[in-house]
Amino acid sequence: MKILVINSGSSSIKYQLFSMPQEKILARGLLERIGLSCSVLHHSREGNSELEISKQIRNHHQGLKVVLEVLSHPEYGAVEDIDEIDAVGHRVVHGGEKYTASCLVDDDLVSTVREFCELAPLHNPHNLAGIEACQKLLPSVPQVAVFDTAFHQSIADHAYLYAIPYLYYEKYRVRRYGFHGTSHRYVALRAAQILGQPLTDLRVITCHLGNGCSITAVKGGKSVETSMGFTPLEGLVMGTRSGDLDPAVAFYLMEKLGLSASQMKQILNKKSGLLGVSEVSNDMRDIWKAKEAGNPRADLSLRIFWHRLKKYIGAYAAVMNGLDALIFTAGIGENDCQTREKVCQGMDYLGIEIDKDRNAAIQGEEAVISTDSSRVKVLVVPTNEELMIAQDTYQIAKGKTEGQ
Ligand code: AMP
Repeated sequence: MKILVINSGSSSIKYQLFSMPQEKILARGLLERIGLSCSVLHHSREGNSELEISKQIRNHHQGLKVVLEVLSHPEYGAVEDIDEIDAVGHRVVHGGEKYTASCLVDDDLVSTVREFCELAPLHNPHNLAGIEACQKLLPSVPQVAVFDTAFHQSIADHAYLYAIPYLYYEKYRVRRYGFHGTSHRYVALRAAQILGQPLTDLRVITCHLGNGCSITAVKGGKSVETSMGFTPLEGLVMGTRSGDLDPAVAFYLMEKLGLSASQMKQILNKKSGLLGVSEVSNDMRDIWKAKEAGNPRADLSLRIFWHRLKKYIGAYAAVMNGLDALIFTAGIGENDCQTREKVCQGMDYLGIEIDKDRNAAIQGEEAVISTDSSRVKVLVVPTNEELMIAQDTYQIAKGKTEGQ
């Protein structure tokens, strides 16, 4: 079965064409600058050098048309005809409380995704544009939506509700939704495979540390707590987001500096985190360079980052009454061995013992980095949201075909 995976952003479309169930990538690419003066498509097929096409692309519909043309191009394509695509899997950020798993796209799903544009204005409208373009261009092909929020729908009410008047939940759906769910689910499943144990028997903490950072407690294969909340602003320190904060800080600064709500939102989302404290960059590699050059604020931003993460690991171990595996993923988690070492330091009370040499040798590959005697296994698992989307889409499309 050939499965096309689409991640459509505000001005970009990322895609991968998989052959399933072999999980083989046949082609992949990234179309950028949609709607801007000069859009660029980078496309590559297995065994072929990268193709770059520059051309003006006004919208997602036109963009996907170009992607489908390239995928069936006689020289650069991976299929002879677009009809060979059996199903399309879409990354969708917000599925609200309605979607607890990946689902076939139908009118009801489209209207839910539209409804949640208000809560995910930077993602859902563009995810929807990708779905609608595919529905027009591939009308008889099943489309599957894979939600970032779905994995966290197993979280109990006492963990997803904020202690504010209940009315705001009932009327405005204010609650913890959590994000990065596809990544947390993928690395938890993969870690269980690596450890050779059923995920249903494990208590796992997954740390997705990229430009956006979140941490999830996974007990028996289900998300029971996660650090991102009503929006992706809550929780860990991130590249430009503050993470947890006394809400009174926002009121105080708004009153003191005469800031509007949208100015405050901008400060907490775009000017805080590693960037805000270090005043160097939101990029961890730049922070390390500055720290090594003796910049004390780069050093401080790292210490705040590590401390917050450590605090969450302790809290989530408490929530699960223990811990079997700790997993690091995404740009920082996969590549920054010093962050992994710092966070695991002084956690022997919890049974975490990192093997310094193993840890230092691992960059961007799957590995167990704890000592053989460590009670808690510590792993690096590179995330692969596209593969997770392809797997879900394959299962759902296969079920549909078999049911026909
Ligand atoms: P992501 O959003 O998953 O692409 O992750 C981006 C983050 O990963 C940025 O903060 C990068 O600086 C960080 N990152 C990528 N490679 C490394 C590396 N070798 N060492 C430290 N941080 C890295």
